[in-house]
Amino acid sequence: MKSIHTQTELDQETLAAVVADAVARASQAKKDSKRWVNAIARATVELESNPFMTFNHDSHSLLIMSSTSGVTYESNGVCQCPAFAQGFPCWHRAAAKLVVNYLERVQ
Ligand SMILES: [Zn+2]
Repeated sequence: MKSIHTQTELDQETLAAVVADAVARASQAKKDSKRWVNAIARATVELESNPFMTFNHDSHSLLIMSSTSGVTYESNGVCQCPAFAQGFPCWHRAAAKLVVNYLERVQ
């Protein structure tokens, strides 16, 4: 399997556990803690509802087409969105990290 369609292929219970861990860690982050918690919350909603998100195993990146703007982002540690350009956390990167953590948990 080379890619995962996140809306349909993630187990909701496992994802919830991964999200809980991520929120707990983000809450204790020294920098941008609140922004990361918010990014994780948005990422969780998008992972469950946005049909245009695919994780690629080869590039370890999450392809995301925004359901509101129609813009496509490819996110792993970096992103192409305005928030990332300004040095802020963004939900694209949060979503990519959640998928990576999820895959580590189920392996
Ligand atoms: Zn982004």
